[in-house]
Amino acid sequence: MMSDAREHFPILTQQVDGHPLAYLDNAATTQKPRQVLDAVVRYYSESNANVGRSVHAMSMRATDAYEAARETVRGFVNAADASEIVFTKGTTESVNLVAEGFVTELVSAGDEIVVSGMEHHSNLLPWHRVCRRTGAVLRVVPTDADGEITAAAFAEQLGPRTRFAAVAHVSNVQGTVNPVAEISALTRERGIPLLVDGAQAVAHRPVDVQALGADFYCFSGHKMYAPMGTGVLYGRAELLERTDPLLVGGGMVRHVNAEGPQKVFPAPALFEGGTPNIAGAVGLAAAVEYLTGIGMDQVAAHDAELTARAAAGLRGLDGVRVFGAQQPSGGLVSFGVDGLHPYDVGNHLSANGIMVRTGVHCAMPFVDSLGVVGTVRASFAVYNTPEEVDRLVETVATAEKGFW
Ligand code: PLP
Repeated sequence: MMSDAREHFPILTQQVDGHPLAYLDNAATTQKPRQVLDAVVRYYSESNANVGRSVHAMSMRATDAYEAARETVRGFVNAADASEIVFTKGTTESVNLVAEGFVTELVSAGDEIVVSGMEHHSNLLPWHRVCRRTGAVLRVVPTDADGEITAAAFAEQLGPRTRFAAVAHVSNVQGTVNPVAEISALTRERGIPLLVDGAQAVAHRPVDVQALGADFYCFSGHKMYAPMGTGVLYGRAELLERTDPLLVGGGMVRHVNAEGPQKVFPAPALFEGGTPNIAGAVGLAAAVEYLTGIGMDQVAAHDAELTARAAAGLRGLDGVRVFGAQQPSGGLVSFGVDGLHPYDVGNHLSANGIMVRTGVHCAMPFVDSLGVVGTVRASFAVYNTPEEVDRLVETVATAEKGFW
């Protein structure tokens, strides 16, 4: 049990409408520990300057901090080299960078891009746009009756025209953990690059991009205790070499003359045009250190225990449906209450100090396929406790019985 984690998060000490705050919307964004807040304040108090553009001592210090953060993130996901870690503002930007800079060039009319049927809009709309612009075709791996996919189902969609594939590591709707290593074995043997959306994975389980076989791996810092506006694109060096930047301008070019750019920087600077979020990267590194200080195996065990407790408690209530068949371990649980709109359940929980997400979770095609208007989603973090989970279940029970 992570007994002392809670005291690292100043925001959690408050009451909401006379109730102690139970923040269970961590899949949307996590709260930030004092260690991260302090790292950001320290950066601005002691080291702030722009990176890589000057010879002065402060710029050197900022550059060192920024590059040290990159190395910390590299170690966190076990990338082979720090140049494979590109800082972005989040998963959405990371996926768009790959879609615009790599896949648009890769495909032509009639080629195919394969995605799963449970994707977040951020790992779906970029592929729709590539298809619209190039004439490529988007093939969607259908989810089964439980809203899940197998590697075999994925394999069925891979054909001779498949040029690229993308899949969530963990579903943000049901918390399903997808068999990414199996899927990457299938794509690798067919020579198809695979992008993995790790937005809901990195805060809850150890991630090793090489062991997973991901060619690109995207995640958001703000969902793993880091500041807003931070994110990462991991790309295998060989593929980043074939990727164009999303943004062009200062910071990514070495030599420009009247004709235009003559020589650009290699990765990762090539993909970080403009002044980056240096303090954000420093905060992200502090978040990585915070998580690794606890130990990712312990984090995973804690989050899985709370998720299983919530699922079991909710399944025990009359008229409550927990979505997905997997033993929940992805750090979140989605449910519905018979006869109640998810928003009503969410309002009732909020009135009792419990913050959850309700609705379609930016995954409309998938939620439609579940045959519901939306779900209620409780998602967990290192600072959540079994007592909060029990409060959630008890409060859902009062909604269910119409006592409000
Ligand atoms: N992918 C998944 C699975 C997500 O859960 C989210 C955020 O909810 C995203 C992508 C988009 O992340 P961001 O809004 O940080 O870019």
